[in-house]
Amino acid sequence: MDQAETVRTPSSWVVVGLDNGGTCNNATVLDATGQFLVNNLVENPSRVLDGPESAVEALADAFNGILQLTSTPLSLVRAVGLDTPGPASAHGVISSKGATNFNQVSWHGFDIRGALEARLGLPVVYNNDGNAAALYAHHRHFGAAAPEHSSVSAIVGTGLGGGVVEAGQVVRGAAGMAGELGHVQIPLHGVLEDGQPVPQCNCGFAGDVESIASLTGIKNNLLPYWLTRFPDHPLNDEPIAKAAKALRGYGEKDDALALAVFGQQAKAIGKLFTIAANFTDPSAYFLGGGVVEAEPHFRQWFLNSVREATALRDEQKAVATFALVPDRDMAGARGAAVAALNQVSPL
Ligand SMILES: [Zn+2]
Repeated sequence: MDQAETVRTPSSWVVVGLDNGGTCNNATVLDATGQFLVNNLVENPSRVLDGPESAVEALADAFNGILQLTSTPLSLVRAVGLDTPGPASAHGVISSKGATNFNQVSWHGFDIRGALEARLGLPVVYNNDGNAAALYAHHRHFGAAAPEHSSVSAIVGTGLGGGVVEAGQVVRGAAGMAGELGHVQIPLHGVLEDGQPVPQCNCGFAGDVESIASLTGIKNNLLPYWLTRFPDHPLNDEPIAKAAKALRGYGEKDDALALAVFGQQAKAIGKLFTIAANFTDPSAYFLGGGVVEAEPHFRQWFLNSVREATALRDEQKAVATFALVPDRDMAGARGAAVAALNQVSPL
C-alpha cells in the first residue's frame, strides 16, 4: 500500500479507529503524536446483517488486519475508537428499537462497545458515526488549537447526521442523543415555496432539517413537489428513488430543478446553523456528506448558499469559519481514533 515509512521509538504508542458501516468496516491507526499511519480506506465486510456475534468478529478482523498492515505490535495499542450508525446510547448500546443497519432482534439493546472491549481485551471508546465525523472535522481543521475551539457539523447523506464539538470534545448529552441535528425543527418561512407541502421526516416530526436536507428528504418531500413545477423535466420519467440519486449530477450541470432542490437544502442547513449560532456560537460550521465529492464549483456554490442562509451577527461573522468536512469516507474511522486518543491522553 501507498504510505510513508513510519519511524517509532520503543516508547511510542498508538490507538486504532474502527468505523462500522452497513456493508464495510474501515480501520485506521493514529499514533501518540497525532499522525495517521494509513492514508487510504482499509475495509473489510462488516457482516452486521449476520447479527452481533459475526459483526464483533468482523470488527476484530479489521483490528488485527490494520495492525498487520501497519506492522504495529499489539503491545503498542492503548485503546480502540469505535463508531457505528445510530441511534445508540452514549456508550454504544444500540437502540432498543433497533436501527436501520441493526434490524435483527438480536441487535436491539446490544452493547457493541462492551462486546468489542471484551473481545479485544482493550478499552473501547464509542461514538456514533455523525459525532465521529464531526470530531474529525474539528481536529483536522483546528489541529493543536482544537481544545480552544467549538464547532457544529452537518453531514448530508441518506439522513442528516452530524455533531456538536465544544472545547475539542463531542457533546454527548445525558442519553447520548446530543447532536441529533437532523431532527431539529426549523422555521420554514423563507425555506418553502408558497403552497409547498410541509416536509415530513421518518422520525415523526414535520419540518425538521432531515426532512429537507437529506437524500430521504429529496425522495419523499422535495422532488415530488419540484417535479410538479418542472413537468417537462426528464426526471419525471424515472422512479422517484432513482431520480433522487441522480439529482446531484444534474446540480453539477446547473440544472434549474436541481438547483431549486439543493438551494432549499442549503437554506434548511442555514436555519439550523442560525440556531447553533444562538445556542453555542461555534467557531466553525462544517458541511459534509456526498456533497464533498461533488464537482468543486457545485460544492462551493452549496457551501456559499449555506453561509448566506446562516444569520450571524457582525461579531460572529468576524470570527466564524464555514468549511467542508474533508476525507468523507475516512472521517468516521479517523474521528473514532481521535476520540480514543483524547481518552488516553486528555487534551
Ligand atoms: Zn426527523
